[in-house]
Amino acid sequence: MIRVPFLTDKRVVVLGLGKSGSATVRALVESGARVTGWDDNQAARDAAQAAGIPLADPLALDLSEVDMIVWSPGIPHTFPQPHPLAEAARAADIPLVCDIELLAIAKPDAKFVLITGTNGKSTTTTLVAHILTSAGIANAAGGNLGTAALDLPDLDADGIYVLELSSYQLELTRSLRARAGVLLNITPDHLGRHGGMDGYIAAKRRLYDFIAADGVSVIGLDDAPTRGIADWLLGAGHRHTAISVKQVLDHGISAPDGILRQNGVEIFDLTAIATLPGRHNWQNACAAFALVSAVGVPSTAIAAGIASYPGLAHRQQLVGNRNGVRFVNDSKATNAEAAEVALVCYDAIHWIIGGQAKEGGIASLERHFHRIKHAYLIGDAAPAFAETLAGKVAFTQCGSLDRAVTAAAAQAQPGEVVLLSPACASWDQFKSFEHRGEIFRDLVRGLS
Ligand code: ADP
Repeated sequence: MIRVPFLTDKRVVVLGLGKSGSATVRALVESGARVTGWDDNQAARDAAQAAGIPLADPLALDLSEVDMIVWSPGIPHTFPQPHPLAEAARAADIPLVCDIELLAIAKPDAKFVLITGTNGKSTTTTLVAHILTSAGIANAAGGNLGTAALDLPDLDADGIYVLELSSYQLELTRSLRARAGVLLNITPDHLGRHGGMDGYIAAKRRLYDFIAADGVSVIGLDDAPTRGIADWLLGAGHRHTAISVKQVLDHGISAPDGILRQNGVEIFDLTAIATLPGRHNWQNACAAFALVSAVGVPSTAIAAGIASYPGLAHRQQLVGNRNGVRFVNDSKATNAEAAEVALVCYDAIHWIIGGQAKEGGIASLERHFHRIKHAYLIGDAAPAFAETLAGKVAFTQCGSLDRAVTAAAAQAQPGEVVLLSPACASWDQFKSFEHRGEIFRDLVRGLS
């Protein structure tokens, strides 16, 4: 746990009592702050009360006595509508921050490495942490993924915090100064929360406010919004390292064909790394290479770290290989765009799809249908997906995941892939995408 002595005796309100909010309250109580928490959701308040968290409705408080509001990034504060507490805090000039800001204040001399982007954050974060660990460098990874910021261990000055940051966290941070950080990519996402694409891009660009003057700013060059930010970095005189998986870069890290190059010089082959399949993962590997280079890890140690990366569960995770048929768990693919990333990686796919459908369904994936040997439909979206597939792809209505796995395993031939990449949320049949992926893995292990 991280203590925040700066807030001893200060009056702090924590809004949102999920994982990061609860960790924040605990850390602030330990730090001697006068802290109360609140959550608009009654069930969250009940759980907090049972855990001994002091509660008070902040809108009923005299804000002139409040020194700081720690806002959970999941709660909208500006768009689609201004939150009354956020408005009141701004009017009263009370700092509105997230837990990342408290970590930055608590550890002003710590080394930070930052990762953001629309996609690939968790993979890159865990890859960076793994490379550092395998190079013998103490580190702790968390933030938007895994461990909440103030639940991270209190590292010595040599240790490195590897932080995955969402656009919401970037908006609510001020004091962070990092050794290195990457913005991997930007595609439209969370636009409602940022008041449109410009707001989303502006939130992501804030990453570079948090790179120390002698730090390294890493930027993906493969989409128009990040290319715009790279131009801005150049204009602002920021030292930066570009990454690309679309072109060989004479200056920067690139891997358009899976061969990772530094300033155009081949360093190592990523295509053989089973835990990082596909071009999108080469982007993540290029980013990780640039980030850990910036904190002094030599290329040979980076190559060894990448080669031994165990992969991240539920993201194209190989969970079985049976009679030459690979079983891949991509349960994290909860929309068509994420499923597309997996579809382009394989040529002969037995595709398990369905669940709670997202707007647009799978119509946008039609150009990849030639890769599908057979589709196995599950969950609420099955009737709609059947209409999209009819006459283009052979499919079976399976209803449940266990029937889909059994049917796919019976039909797949050696060299083919059974891919759970559902292009849907999981909540119609499962507790979460993790739960769905674990059941898939267990079903594959249980195949006779
Ligand atoms: P995030 O933490 O940003 O959600 P993850 O690393 O968990 O990203 O990956 C989620 C999904 O996004 C993966 O299953 C994959 O389909 C896709 N993905 C991963 N990395 C990238 C990338 N660099 N570019 C585009 N898509 C990616």
